[in-house]
Amino acid sequence: MCGILGFTGPRKIVYDMMIGMTALQHRGQDAAGVITFKKQFHIKKGLGLVNKVFKQKHVDHLKGRIGVGHVRYTTQGSNESVNVQPIAANYPFGIAMVHNGNVTNFEEMRKVLYKEYHTLPATSNDLELILYTFASELSKKDLGDIQVADIFDAVKITQQKVVGSYSVIAVIANYGLLAFCDPNGIRPLCLGKRESPKGTFYGFASETTCFDHIGYESIRQLEAGEMVFIDKSFNVHTQTGHRKEQHFCVFEYIYFSRDDSVLHNRLVANERVKMGRQLGHKIRRAGLQPDVVIDVPSSGYFAASGLAEELGVPYRRGLVKNNHIGRSFISPTQSERENIVKRKLNPIRQVVNGKKVAVVDDSIVRGTTSKRIVQILKEAGATEVYFVSASPPVKSPCIYGIDMSISTELIAANKNLDEIREYMGADALIYQSLDDLKMLYHNLPTCMACLDGQYPTGDAKEVLETIEKERLASKD
Ligand code: AMP
Repeated sequence: MCGILGFTGPRKIVYDMMIGMTALQHRGQDAAGVITFKKQFHIKKGLGLVNKVFKQKHVDHLKGRIGVGHVRYTTQGSNESVNVQPIAANYPFGIAMVHNGNVTNFEEMRKVLYKEYHTLPATSNDLELILYTFASELSKKDLGDIQVADIFDAVKITQQKVVGSYSVIAVIANYGLLAFCDPNGIRPLCLGKRESPKGTFYGFASETTCFDHIGYESIRQLEAGEMVFIDKSFNVHTQTGHRKEQHFCVFEYIYFSRDDSVLHNRLVANERVKMGRQLGHKIRRAGLQPDVVIDVPSSGYFAASGLAEELGVPYRRGLVKNNHIGRSFISPTQSERENIVKRKLNPIRQVVNGKKVAVVDDSIVRGTTSKRIVQILKEAGATEVYFVSASPPVKSPCIYGIDMSISTELIAANKNLDEIREYMGADALIYQSLDDLKMLYHNLPTCMACLDGQYPTGDAKEVLETIEKERLASKD
């Protein structure tokens, strides 16, 4: 998963971009990069957090009134500096591009690039497949007289050829800022603007929270297959490209997006409260009566508060997070991951001691975190621990950019409910039911492939096998 943004306006935009990048940092912490354009591309990228990669001197040198930026969470390709986005092509006019998502027909696209466009990717980043397809299609137009229709035409062909999830933003040097979504609209992409005495600034970003921090008004979310182009005079052109049925990723609401973002007119925090309330009904039906509800900080918070409200039981913060240790997923081996959970979360003994504790997390993936949490809470004196997951069982790997690993590692793909509860050492295990979650999204078509195995881009067998092979090879 990654975070992307792109801005254009009547003044230097890099300062807005930098604040926006930090607001998207939760979407990717492996690498960060920015390309701006003024007479030429100005580039700064590197491995690590935004504040580590960019020093004041870099920001001052990123000249121009148009640019794109990226924070990376590696899912496709290795985490090396050569793979850091944005990536630029020097034809037909210079295009700097970023994307969030995952191309699933990468083998086929590599062949297309070679045979049809006589080019090959230089890195293992799947963005190159989108970039060179688009750049090659644009190159076929009358380059002395490029119109918006030509740009949109090149996007449409790209959308027809490239399969998978992708939200894309690109600077087309001397022309403008382009954004588009894959035909199913799987990943988020929002449009925002800010009026100023000098004129209007426009921005695209993965999440609206990015706009809030820099005083932009969030206009709307791009739809499946939509293309938006902001030209040099700041006119906004928009059109539907190659579109199929919308399938917006439900895991953005469950886990990935920030609580304060609004995606498809739904505040993420509210969605999580609703998930918590539904879990409340389930817990009541199971005859459980916790004394206190706590969350696994921090993505479990709103679901936990919804659950506590529904049950009429106090919510307390029972686990405190050490924010400086990094995500448990980043650690490569199982034993290191278990240690990190311990270093990351510290129980508040007075909150849980002698109590029946319902502890809410957004999801259970491998089960490592939850097992450790149950252990920590019992050591701190909880008499009973009910583990509650805002997500239904995660049974199938995500091929669209959320790193959930391969099916052999997904606990719910390999154990039944009782076996999972036993593995965790919990007194009860309550998952969101898939039907209840589907009810919440009956009027927003979502992708729930990780929960129901229905992949919106079609048969995923080959992609899953490739991902599995890559994962096993990297372990070796
Ligand atoms: P585990 O069950 O030990 O694999 O980890 C579950 C925890 O990882 C939950 O607390 C989630 O908040 C978090 N989580 C879920 N999906 C992801 C993901 N794709 N990347 C990083 N963390 C995740």
